[in-house]
Amino acid sequence: MTRNGTAPGWTEDELNRLNREFETCPVATLLDWATTQFGPQIVLTCSFGGPSGMVLLDMVARLERGTPVLFLDSDLLFPETYALAEAAAQRYGITIERRRPALSLKDQERLEGPRLYEREPDRCCGIRKVAPLAEALQPYQAWISGIRRDQSKTRAETRLLEWNTRHNLLKINPLAFWSEQAVWEYIHAHEVPYNPLLDRGYPSLGCMPCTRPANGKDPRAGRWAGHAKTECGIHL
Ligand code: SF4
Repeated sequence: MTRNGTAPGWTEDELNRLNREFETCPVATLLDWATTQFGPQIVLTCSFGGPSGMVLLDMVARLERGTPVLFLDSDLLFPETYALAEAAAQRYGITIERRRPALSLKDQERLEGPRLYEREPDRCCGIRKVAPLAEALQPYQAWISGIRRDQSKTRAETRLLEWNTRHNLLKINPLAFWSEQAVWEYIHAHEVPYNPLLDRGYPSLGCMPCTRPANGKDPRAGRWAGHAKTECGIHL
């Protein structure tokens, strides 16, 4: 498993060993190792919607290694999400790379018709999230993501470190084993900023047309209501 002959190769044995090793370590230890190992070739993605990304942003900022932070902007996010990205950049003194889709909303409507998110949300996510992420990840050898096992069935097998064949890089999910409660404990203990909509009945936040307030314990409830879809596709 090598990437263009330039990145370190990662055998399954090595990944298994690292997963075992980091399972018993604090998350900060894994992030310290990862940011040292990859330097400017590792990127953190943060949606400024869910709380997990904010925990990782705080932890990575504390390491002061200038780790790049990538914000996928579909052009359809909540005003609170954009405001949080700006506030976080100020607070942590970091530059956030904001990636937008190649197609403007107007061009998408002209080419695909109105409200594609209602008719074909997979196609809409493909244009506005999946393709921009693939392009944005190209320069990197490793990707830090905030997904957790307890978020959904599709994430239940998430490993701390896994080879991502779609993007040909090492995907690192430092919070894979964290609970929702642990995330909020960290946020409150360290006064980490978070999206205020999470206090207003939204258990999970994405684009405005595809996110609703929801009750219950499902942390992904309220996303793509009326569709079987539970993932935008960037973590599949
Ligand atoms: S979440 Fe909805 S609006 Fe956003 S890209 Fe996906 S389908 Fe389109």
